Amino acid sequence: MSNNKIRSLFLTGRYHHTYYFTFIHLTHPMKKVLSISLFLFSFPATQTMAQEKEENRIRVIAIFAHPDDADSRMGGTAALFAKLGAAVKFVSLTNGDAGSYNEGGGPLAMRRREEARRAGKKYGIDEYQVLDNHDGELLPDLNTRKQVIRAIREWNADIVIGLRPNDYHPDHRNAGKLVQDASFMVVVPNVVTDAPALRKNPLFLYMADHFQKPNPFTHDIVIGIDETIDQKLAGLNEHVSQMYEWLPWTRQLGLDATVPTDSIKRIEWLRERIEKRSEVSAAQRPVLQKWYGTKKGNAFKYAESFEIAEYGSQPTAADIRKLFPMLRQ
Ligand SMILES: [Zn+2]
Repeated sequence: MSNNKIRSLFLTGRYHHTYYFTFIHLTHPMKKVLSISLFLFSFPATQTMAQEKEENRIRVIAIFAHPDDADSRMGGTAALFAKLGAAVKFVSLTNGDAGSYNEGGGPLAMRRREEARRAGKKYGIDEYQVLDNHDGELLPDLNTRKQVIRAIREWNADIVIGLRPNDYHPDHRNAGKLVQDASFMVVVPNVVTDAPALRKNPLFLYMADHFQKPNPFTHDIVIGIDETIDQKLAGLNEHVSQMYEWLPWTRQLGLDATVPTDSIKRIEWLRERIEKRSEVSAAQRPVLQKWYGTKKGNAFKYAESFEIAEYGSQPTAADIRKLFPMLRQ
């Protein structure tokens, strides 16, 4: 068997120890055997280390309604997670095909999927998936619940981040409910049997919002994002159809003439808004101090918050530090 053949068996994962030992004993001269065996020894070691590293990654999945929801609420935290080696996936439950005043349908869905893909690259996350459900029509039905269960299981998630089910947009409310409805079912083996049930219930969190009724958002975990605010901005800048077209239009139900058309002026226009929205609030400051210590907690300019859901696993402070590597530093 040739050296290349053995290497290809390693690469395809079809390597068997018998090949390896047979090869060593049959090959001459001794020098060649030694050099090849060194190569063979080093290869599986590297492979095992890579495998171990992959297995030890914290696995985060954010599930929401539209391509751009998680970006604005937790883009900085996602980029931080990715930077610290976590496996991060964004899943938009709709394709965003209603998010425009002058285009729609398939072409808009495809445009938004591409915007999301580019934004994901800016955050450095593993994947930004946009499911093909219609925007404005998301329902907390059984079929979509199964999509959510499957997504959480296939990602083998340690942390699931969703929206709260009280929000102005019906898709946001229903996306929140869908994640809640999946939170216990992900560990039930007889449900969605084509994706093996998780052996451990993940931690479920909510992204922040400002809605007060029936209950306001609680800042349980606050992450300082000064290090990644530029990545958050760069990602949001990729959502051209939303940041510069649709969202400004919705604010006045008409064209907003203040949005610059020049791409450099435009990103500065967006920066002002994103930085202002990401500034540490009075409610966030004491929580930053709690997690980072007073000195570091006081130094942050920008932050993002998460509320711990009552469903799913209930973490101790030590669990949270284990799952949020940025709180261990
Ligand atoms: Zn949305």
